[in-house]
Amino acid sequence: TTEQLTKYEKIEAFVKGFKLSGAAYKRVMTLLHQEMNNGLKKQSHTVADIKMFPTFVRSLPDGSEKGEFLALDLGGTNFRVLLVRLQGHDIDIQSKTYLIPQRIMLGTGTQLFDHIADCIGKFVTEHDLIKHSLPLGFTFSFPCQQEGLAKARLSKWTKGFRCEGVVGEDICELLHEALKRRTNCKVEIVAVVNDAVGTLMSAAHGDRNCEIGLILGTGCNACYMEYLDNVGTWGHDDDHHPKQVIINTEWGAFGDNGCLDFMRTEYDRELDTFSINPGKQVMEKMISGMYMGEIVRLVLERLTLEGLLFRSVDRDCSLFERGRFYTKYVSEIESDTDEFFRHTKQVLDELHVESYTTEDCKIVKYVCTLISARAAFLAAAGLATLINRLDKQDMTIAVDGSLYRFHPRFHNLMCLKIKELVKPGLKFKLCLSHDGSGKGAALTAAVSLRLR
Ligand code: ADP
Repeated sequence: TTEQLTKYEKIEAFVKGFKLSGAAYKRVMTLLHQEMNNGLKKQSHTVADIKMFPTFVRSLPDGSEKGEFLALDLGGTNFRVLLVRLQGHDIDIQSKTYLIPQRIMLGTGTQLFDHIADCIGKFVTEHDLIKHSLPLGFTFSFPCQQEGLAKARLSKWTKGFRCEGVVGEDICELLHEALKRRTNCKVEIVAVVNDAVGTLMSAAHGDRNCEIGLILGTGCNACYMEYLDNVGTWGHDDDHHPKQVIINTEWGAFGDNGCLDFMRTEYDRELDTFSINPGKQVMEKMISGMYMGEIVRLVLERLTLEGLLFRSVDRDCSLFERGRFYTKYVSEIESDTDEFFRHTKQVLDELHVESYTTEDCKIVKYVCTLISARAAFLAAAGLATLINRLDKQDMTIAVDGSLYRFHPRFHNLMCLKIKELVKPGLKFKLCLSHDGSGKGAALTAAVSLRLR
């Protein structure tokens, strides 16, 4: 009977849903592969959850890229303007971060793009670039339907932006108009990319085997180089060589049709119900930095209410507050390697958990390890699907984002699981990509000028 179960067996019953078999991840791969094909096919693209958007980036850098480029980075944590000088493998980057005030994030599109043009104006004046006409690469990390390398219609705002009159519009056109309103900026917008594509381009510059880019930050997304023949949605005449294009998978939406329900837990469902986009971004919600901490919190809350964790907790303890358990706490807690639990205790203090024992710390850490491992394994299953599709001897995957950078075990967990899931004989490497949004955007502009 339940009474006879030990405390640990009882805890196990509340967390076992996070422990998935190898077969479960293989099932994920089969489903993802099918969904990717649906997204690429003309007949099924509109109903597919994974959009598999062609980016119009047709070639990776080969190291011969040269010249001076401006780059913009909007949609990450900061807005930056960068000057990137490319000279073979020597790259010099100067950048400046500008603030986007809340009133502009929630204002009109005109105000936003005027503000961006102002920042570019200040930047080129400070760097004495006014007389130059510079090509610009724009990292714009919001979901867009691209119609050309420098033509991208915003599908929807995310991450706290809500500027009126921009959804459905070509953001390059809006920036171009704003720049025209200023007389001193001679800038040609050459390419728009998202952060995943920038990450891939940046790493591919130094590594010819790199054909996959992955973001593990606020969100989770991947892109890869695909043969044009496999892209049924590529209805364009320009099918010249190279016969390939980077596909922006937008795979965060995988599972929105319910196909991942077999592996979702009650905590995943609760998180979804209270999110701003219920039913959407199912895969992303099991992986990315915006949600992982909250899943941990929901489990800890449950264990506490069941009397299995923390002997006494106040009702107003932050542990019971939605959104108060940050994903960076998971990294901190898992970095504890001895019985002192220094970081774990710091986190519990910050959450105003009044009294806790070493055993409580152990349980908290255990919950974190289960949930971060599931996230890493699911991301790994996604990458293994891509590695198997591309079927190349050696594959490098460029990765960026704070979750990958700072979580102490994410890299190792992913490598472990990918090895288990890829076809025998295929070798792979995960590498941290530096400055994808600056260097990557400039390189995309440089490559497209080379191909013109
Ligand atoms: P973005 O994806 O917005 O460009 P980041 O790559 O910095 O920016 O990702 C931000 C996300 O990373 C946030 O959701 C945050 O919770 C998470 N994060 C920040 N620091 C850490 C950390 N030390 N460990 C794990 N996740 C983190």
